[in-house]
Amino acid sequence: LPDPDVASLTDEDVADLLPTPEAESDKYRRGVIGIVAGSDRFTGAAVLSVGGAVRAGAGLVRFAGAEAAARQVRNSWPEAITTVLDGPSVAEVGRVQAWVLGPGMGTGPEAEALARAVLATDVPVLVDADGLTLLARDRSMLRRSAPTVLTPHAGELSRLLEVPSDRIEAARLEHVRRAVDELGTVVLLKGSTTLIAEEGRPVRVNATGTPWLATGGTGDVLSGIAGTLLAAGLSGYDAASAAAHLHGLAAQAASTGKSGGHGPIAAMDVAQTLPQVIRS
Ligand code: AMP
Ligand code: MG
Repeated sequence: LPDPDVASLTDEDVADLLPTPEAESDKYRRGVIGIVAGSDRFTGAAVLSVGGAVRAGAGLVRFAGAEAAARQVRNSWPEAITTVLDGPSVAEVGRVQAWVLGPGMGTGPEAEALARAVLATDVPVLVDADGLTLLARDRSMLRRSAPTVLTPHAGELSRLLEVPSDRIEAARLEHVRRAVDELGTVVLLKGSTTLIAEEGRPVRVNATGTPWLATGGTGDVLSGIAGTLLAAGLSGYDAASAAAHLHGLAAQAASTGKSGGHGPIAAMDVAQTLPQVIRS
């Protein structure tokens, strides 16, 4: 029997949610996204999250992070404005309409101070990857005035809920609902299917994607897409849902050859294919 508390999102629904620039738009009105990601050790996550944002159509991407990550972002995406952070001084980055926090940022004391500073702002924040590990240690960071979106896979959710990940995998719907109840945020649970949940709304099941997405870095691209839609003014629930849908479509398009066969994709291919799927 169909579950009334579960919904899907069609291509048409997503097309209606997507912002298109108006004649009078400028980059600030279209949405400025701040991305706090990467570290001296992990620079790729920063590049991929920024790539998701640039290719999803952000008005402006402001990147903040460690020197090595900022350098790599500048080399890959000259469109982004980068700030090398010495401490948790997020005000230096400039005004943003939403933040992405976490991919590859590490979980040491400096990363923790930075996460606290980002979460203390009054704009929406999407937390992924290492940011989720930091949150699991101190959930009080989630007491904030603006919306928060969490994008865990089962392992990350396992730390947040203190439930073994095999139990989450065996009952994903139940656990994504429980996460919303306990954490009070929008939760996007990744995996072979992606579930998007918010208090009082049906859980959305994303129907797009391909098993070829199970490769390093694709989650980082997703964070940049969802952050861009948040910065453009979508609700956390809609931004997360539309991002998952577009990310899956881009992966399908990137993995499908002219003859109709399917093959491997790199995470960057997903970012680079976004404009094509947004156009269609
Ligand atoms: P992450 O776990 O952060 O690396 O993100 C991986 C991305 O790939 C998420 O968007 C997942 O939903 C997606 N993904 C992982 N495994 C599969 C799978 N078997 N089929 C479809 N999508 C997947
Ligand atoms: Mg990830």
